[in-house]
Amino acid sequence: MEIISGIALSRTIKEEIKQEVSTFLAKGLRRPKLVAVLVGSDGPSQTYVNAKVKDCHQVGFESEAVRLDENTSEEVLLAWVEKLNADPSVDGFIVQLPLPKGIDESKVLLAIDPAKDVDGFHPVNIGNMALGLPGFVPATPAGVIQMLKRSGIDTSGKHCVIIGRSKIVGMPLSILLARNSNPGNCTVTLTHSRTKNLKEICKEADILIAALGKPGFIKADMIKAGAVIIDVGISRVETDTNEKGYIIQGDVDFDSVSEKVGFISPVPGGVGPMTRTSLLTNTLTAYKRSFNLK
Ligand code: NAP
Repeated sequence: MEIISGIALSRTIKEEIKQEVSTFLAKGLRRPKLVAVLVGSDGPSQTYVNAKVKDCHQVGFESEAVRLDENTSEEVLLAWVEKLNADPSVDGFIVQLPLPKGIDESKVLLAIDPAKDVDGFHPVNIGNMALGLPGFVPATPAGVIQMLKRSGIDTSGKHCVIIGRSKIVGMPLSILLARNSNPGNCTVTLTHSRTKNLKEICKEADILIAALGKPGFIKADMIKAGAVIIDVGISRVETDTNEKGYIIQGDVDFDSVSEKVGFISPVPGGVGPMTRTSLLTNTLTAYKRSFNLK
C-alpha cells in the first residue's frame, strides 16, 4: 500500500510555482495576484480565506482578502465583482461560498470574468473543460488529477467509480477522467444517492473516488484488492479526545481500507492541500495568459 501524500505533492508544486514566479520577477514583471472575497463571518470560510492568503505569500504571489459585512447586498457584491474584473493588477479572484441568504450565488458567479475565474465555476470554464479547451478546472478536481498524475498512476482503460455528483467535485471529475488525455481515458461510473447496488459497483472500481461527505462510509468490503482510493470527503466529527472537540474525517474508513489497497490518499493531508495548491496553479495560469507567457 502506498499513501498519496497531498502535503508532500503540494509542497513540490508550490516550490515549482515559486521558482516560476522568481523567473518572472527577474524579467521585471509584477507578482501574480489573487483576491478572495468573503461575505459574512462564517467560521470555516474565514479559515479557508486565511489559508488562501497564506498560500499566496508562500509562493511569492500578492494577495488580498476583501471582507464584506454579513448584511452586504447582492448589488454591492456585484459591484465588487465588476471592480475586480476591471482591475488589471488582479489576475484571479474567488468569491468564497456559501454566500449569505438573500444573495443569488449563480448570479454572482456568472458576473465573474471567466478569464479571472480561478475557481473554475463559471459556465464558460465548465464548458471549456468539457470540450478540452483552455480555461480553468475547479480546484478540487484539478488537485485529484495532479495526485493521480504525479503518483504515476496509469488511468487508461481503468474503471473509475466516483461517489458524489456535485458541481464542484464529482461532476467535473467524471468529465476529466473520461477525456482522451493523461490522466484520463477511464471508463467512468458517476454514482449518487439514488444509485442502486453501490457496494457492488464500488467493488468493480480500479480507481474509487469518494466525494459524498459521509465520514467512514467506504469500508474494506466495498473495494477491490489493489484499488486506488482517493478520499475527497472532509467532515468534522465530534470527539472528546481533543480540545477542539472534533476531528477531521474523510469518507473512507482508512484503517480497514488501507490494508487492501494499492494507493490511498489520507484525510487530512490528502486532497485538501492539493485543492489549495490548484488555486495557486490556476492563478499563475491566469497571470501567464495575461502577459502571454509560456
Ligand atoms: P455535496 O454537494 O453535498 O454532494 C454530495 C454528493 O454525494 C451528492 O451528489 C449526493 O447525491 C452524494 N451522496 C450523498 N450521500 C450518498 C450516498 N449515501 N451514496 C451515494 N452518494 C451519496 O458535496 P461536495 O461539495 O461535493 O463535497 C463532498 C465532500 O467532499 C464533503 O465532505 C466536502 O467537505 C468534501 N470536499 C472536500 C474538498 C477538499 O478540498 N478536500 C473540496 C470540496 C469538498 P445526490 O446528488 O443524489 O444528492
